[in-house]
Parts: sequence; C-alpha cells; structure tokens
Amino acid sequence: MAEDLKRGRAVVLGAGIAGLLAAAVLAENLGPVTLVERDRFDEDSAPRKGTPQARHAHLLLGSGARAVEELLPGTLDTLTTGGAHNIGMPEQILTLTPQGWMPRFAQVQFLIGCSRPFLESTLRERVLRDERITLVGGVDATGLAGEASQVRGALVRDRATGDSAVLEAEFVVDATGASSNAPRWLAGLGLASVDEDVVDGGVGYATRLYRPHPSLRRDFPAICIQPDPDGDGRAGVLLPIEGDRWIVSIAGMRGGHPPTDEAGYVEFAGKLRHPLIGELIASAEPLGGVRGFRTPPNRRRHFERPHHWPEGFVVLGDAVCTFNPLYGHGMSIAALQALALRDTLRAHGFRAGLARKVQRAAARAVEDAWTLASGQDSRFEQTTGPKPSLLDKINSRYAEQVGKAAAVRPAVTAALLDAYTLNAPLSSLLRPKTAFAVMLRPRRRPDSTPPLTRPEVASLRLASPRARGADPGRKPDA
Ligand SMILES: Cc1cc2nc3c(=O)[nH]c(=O)nc-3n(C[C@H](O)[C@H](O)[C@H](O)COP(=O)(O)OP(=O)(O)OC[C@H]3O[C@@H](n4cnc5c(N)ncnc54)[C@H](O)[C@@H]3O)c2cc1C
Repeated sequence: MAEDLKRGRAVVLGAGIAGLLAAAVLAENLGPVTLVERDRFDEDSAPRKGTPQARHAHLLLGSGARAVEELLPGTLDTLTTGGAHNIGMPEQILTLTPQGWMPRFAQVQFLIGCSRPFLESTLRERVLRDERITLVGGVDATGLAGEASQVRGALVRDRATGDSAVLEAEFVVDATGASSNAPRWLAGLGLASVDEDVVDGGVGYATRLYRPHPSLRRDFPAICIQPDPDGDGRAGVLLPIEGDRWIVSIAGMRGGHPPTDEAGYVEFAGKLRHPLIGELIASAEPLGGVRGFRTPPNRRRHFERPHHWPEGFVVLGDAVCTFNPLYGHGMSIAALQALALRDTLRAHGFRAGLARKVQRAAARAVEDAWTLASGQDSRFEQTTGPKPSLLDKINSRYAEQVGKAAAVRPAVTAALLDAYTLNAPLSSLLRPKTAFAVMLRPRRRPDSTPPLTRPEVASLRLASPRARGADPGRKPDA
C-alpha cells in the first residue's frame, strides 16, 4: 500500500460513479490522483460488496450520459457496442404515470439501459487508462488529516493488514456514497455539524434478471410503472440491458415491500398497477434468483451551508444526496457534479476558496432532483419526514396538473421529460407556453392500455398467448 499512496496530489475516496468521474477531472486539472477504494476489483464486472445497489436496475438518464461523454469521450459508444441500449424517450419506454400511460412519440430524450456493473467497469477501465490515476483497492478511508481551515489528506487503513497511514494530498474528495462519514470527519476537525433533510418512503426493491422470449428480444420497449400516491405505492421497471437480458426491479414502500421468494416475486409483479411486466416475465427465462434491497431514504446533506469550510475538501455523489432510486437520478447527479467540479476548477483555478465553490456548485446540481424526489414521495402516506409547507403543497398540486396534461398533450410530455431527465431546469415547467398547455382542459382521457405498436402486440401474443396487458379497454388499476 505504502508505494501507491505516495503518489497523489489529489485523493479521491471511493471508486464508484462519483469517485471515478471526479478522479478523471482532477487528473486532467491537477495532476496525479490516488483513488482509494474499500473493495478489491476482480477481472469480471460482477456486483461487488461496496455497491450492493448494483444488483438492481440502474438507468442512466440522458443528462448523466451526456456529462459522462463530455468527461470521457467515447464512453457511450463503448457501452452500446458492448450491448447497452440507447433508449429513446418516450418512444422506446412505456411509462405508466399516476395519471395514465404516457403518450408515445418520436424521441425527445434518451436513457442508457445496461447493468450497473457493466457501466461501472466501463468507466473504471476508461478512467484507469490515464496513467496519472492510481487505484488502490482493499483500503478503508477512516478520516481526514488536517485542521478546520485546511484538509491535508486522508486517514486510511489497509483492510488486509490493519495498517493505518496518512495519505497526504492537497485536495481530497469524499465519494464514499450513502454511507459517507463526512459529517463526523468534519466534526473531528472541529467544524460545525452539517444540516440534513430526510424524506423517507421506506422503499424496498426486489430484482431478477431474465432472458426474454425470442420474439421479444432487442426492440421491445422498456417499461416503467410508477407508483401512485393514491394507490398502494407499488412500482416496477423492466430495463433491457447488455447480453440480451432484462433486469426487472419491482418495489414497494414502507409496509409493502416485494417478497424475494420466487412465487411471491412473480405474484407481486403481476399485481403492479398494470399486469404488463408480470406477463412479460412469465414468458421469459429467469437467470438466477431474486435479490432484495432496502434502499436509503431521500437524504440531503447541506455541506454548502456551514460558515466555515476547509480548503482542500469536497463531498460528491450519494455522500451529498441520495434519492428514491425509482426516479433514476443518483448516477446522473454524480456525473453532473463531476462536470461542476471541472467547470469550477477551470473558472476559479486551484486557489483559496475553491473547495467551498465546488461544494456550492455540487449543492446546486442536486436541487431539482431533490425537489422532484422529496416532493413526490411526501405525497405518500407511508413517507416520514417534515410535513409539506404551503409552498410544497402548491408545487405538488401544479406537478399533479403537469402529470395530467403530460398524459394527453405531447408538448407537455416533452417538457416534463426534459425536466425529469435533468436536461432542463424544473422551472422550465412554469414557462408560459407549458403553463398554458397545463391549464387547458384535456380534450381526451389518458390511455388506459400501454401504447404498444401492432408488431409489439403481435410479439407479445407470440411470447405469451394469454397476455391481457395489451387488451383495449383494460383499466390501469384494474
Ligand atoms: C436499489 C437502487 C437502485 C438505483 N437505481 C438507480 C438508477 O436507476 N439510476 C441512477 O442514476 N441511480 C440509481 N441509484 C442510485 C445510484 O446507485 C447512486 O446514486 C450512485 O451509485 C452514486 O454513486 P457514488 O459514487 O456517489 O456512490 P457509490 O456508487 O455507492 O460508490 C461509493 C464507493 O465508495 C466505496 N466506499 C464506501 N465507503 C468507503 C470507505 N470508507 N473507504 C473506501 N471506499 C469506500 C464503496 O465501496 C463504493 O465503491 C440506485 C440506487 C439504489 C439503492
């Protein structure tokens, strides 16, 4: 360990999505970087202990994919060549919102469908091509070295030998994810406590991989069944991924988690707000067992608020903010924060005040995703957290109206998708043209059946002759 640890001018703690991208930015702008990771990496891209969430569906939204591409050009090509799906929205994903099926029309946004281990190993391989970056696996970050005004490195411990060391650095990034101890580490340097907001729907996931029936391979759309605040809070996503497979995650809120035994899982999937996912998996070949996971809450830590902030230290990724994963925002936020790190470094230079500026930019990057996730989750009775303020209630009422209009008016659907995928600010939904379309009385009711094309219905019938998911007239909640 000692040899590797001497090299970095910057140190990044945690080699997940945020850590890898931050390392790429720092190498480009500061020089040698040491990336410290608790896990050791094997040759294959199997899920690892430090990222238990990686067994579950992880979609990379267009904003995150564009940010990754900007930082590491060519990555999207590598992913799609390796079998990842570039899924046009809303064309290639059928989404059942609380208000009905989203209309399907030519692509306005996109997402990348692949397994999280494949995405991460692709990023890792790409980042480690840079000889200025050294990855040291099997090492725990245990604290910060320095004082309240200046972080001078990280305290680390070799997991195999138990040896501890101080890893000196001019710039330290904490990207250790949802379990980050940054607030405690900062307190250890004598800094004030960090404010935290928590809105917790108590979401639980269960996931299984499938090989689709041959008639449904490759071009069949992804499916997303969102939870309805007026219903039981169940949700599901079926995402095509590399290797001609589907990853199917189903979820429920506190008190209604999906079972992880085979029969229970299948039954739960069939009783989502619409049976389509259940019918599709009934026709598919299961690959391995069902895995469960209790997800972290929506938790936002306000590292941008304390009066005093040390030079040379920033916190990024899930360590700053975790979201209900059903909204698919976490990895994109990590990528957008890495872009913010790069832009702030370029604009401000490696000078006093840099860390504070980066931390504020990182906070701005989470703002809209936080408003979406916490606002939506606080509408469920299962959710714990602060009661919504009057302003929250007005926002939530408007969001509901946007959802209703988006289910029938493609212009509003497109505006909503731009905001949801973080390609446009949330405030863009208040632009006069959109607001006017939201207020107009809808001319028709939302679709009650998934907007499948004729060839897709034919493929579905081939795979599953008794499937009723595409029957006309079927009510989403029936
Ligand atoms: C069930 C589930 C589904 C999700 N689905 C989506 C989705 O569809 N789309 C999306 O964008 N996001 C999704 N997310 C969120 C996504 O997983 C995170 O937002 C993303 O991984 C954040 O990246 P990160 O690098 O901050 O943290 P992580 O990816 O968790 O990485 C943290 C790294 O730090 C390491 N580490 C931890 N502690 C230490 C330590 N003390 N010392 C050294 N190393 C340490 C860990 O081993 C890990 O490698 C989902 C999350 C869950 C729970």
